[in-house]
Amino acid sequence: MDEIRECQPEIPGLYVSVPFCRGKCRYCAIPTRATALPPAERYRDALRREAAAARGPSSGFGSIYFGGGTPLTLSAAVLGRILEDMRGIFSFEDGVEVTLEANPGVLSRGDLERLAAAGFNRLSLGVQSLDDEELSFLGRIHTSDDALQAASWVRSAGFRQVSLDLIYGFPGHTIGRWRRTLDRVLSLGPDHLSIYAFTLEPGTYFHAAVREGRARLPGERDLLAMDEAARERLTAAGYDYYEISNAARAGAVCLHNLRIWRGGDVLGLGAAAHSLVSGWRWRNVADANAYMKSVEGAGSGAVGIHRVDGEGTLLERLLGGLRLDEGIPLSVLPNGDEQFAESIQSLVADEFLEAAGGMIRLGSRGRPVADSVILEVAAALGAQTG
Ligand code: SF4
Repeated sequence: MDEIRECQPEIPGLYVSVPFCRGKCRYCAIPTRATALPPAERYRDALRREAAAARGPSSGFGSIYFGGGTPLTLSAAVLGRILEDMRGIFSFEDGVEVTLEANPGVLSRGDLERLAAAGFNRLSLGVQSLDDEELSFLGRIHTSDDALQAASWVRSAGFRQVSLDLIYGFPGHTIGRWRRTLDRVLSLGPDHLSIYAFTLEPGTYFHAAVREGRARLPGERDLLAMDEAARERLTAAGYDYYEISNAARAGAVCLHNLRIWRGGDVLGLGAAAHSLVSGWRWRNVADANAYMKSVEGAGSGAVGIHRVDGEGTLLERLLGGLRLDEGIPLSVLPNGDEQFAESIQSLVADEFLEAAGGMIRLGSRGRPVADSVILEVAAALGAQTG
């Protein structure tokens, strides 16, 4: 079996967006279409046209990630054909990591075997919780049994790696229930875990429910206890938190996402996909129909194409890199500005940041409040540049 190669941010990744889902989760603000019957072949054709009009790297892409949405709404057979289309248009590195996001509510053992045979080798399974009451409350279409069964099939179906997604801190969530989910999930022995704190997104069911007093979010102390419970259990079980919300066993980091956090290029295909290629950034129109029409007419669904200037590149590098345990090289930060240097020194003195070995990263007090620290660094940068 080929070894998955070390992530090199200078080698671009390829992202394929599939914006269809079977239902709408109550916390989700991603612009997906809830449908049982998406226009699978028409969407595949649009992806193929968009890819044919784009330029891939001559050395080959270093990772492929199919995300959504729920890609399997298109069916395992169509996803296999899309991957084949991409291999016919672009070149890829040997042993390339090929990730598929999957919803346990839309997955059979036969699907997994077909997908592995087509070349998918990493599965990111949206488990979210192993408590049926919570799953139903969150608006998920699967049960805990669906998730347990899917996780048990992944390896024998031929996938190299499995990652499980969990969410904590949603309305009514308690530390006791969270610990039970963590213990059950760890007993499955995944290679990788993505553990996201719930965010209240405008336009969602929960946003209205919390605003109208029909649901209540856990307090700050409970959220910290949930984060600590996850960190303690995962660290004790041999996982390394290489990013604020992501932990992996040795050799199992997500190379595609690592590339993005390190500021590497990604070509995004499909509705709502974002791209950063050779200093240019754009996004595709979010609505699937509008995207297909645009590609059928003009070969592209891109809008908002703009050159990322030096300040924008640095800001993106900070926002992504400070999320990583490795941090970012000190040499990336601007020097010669006293005010900026003072802001950084003050965050280091207060242990919100730490600087060592030529790198700057979140410090022990910075990790639990990472978003605020990163925003403070970004604000100091804005004052410096602007
Ligand atoms: S399955 Fe994922 S993308 Fe689809 S509605 Fe739920 S959270 Fe959103």
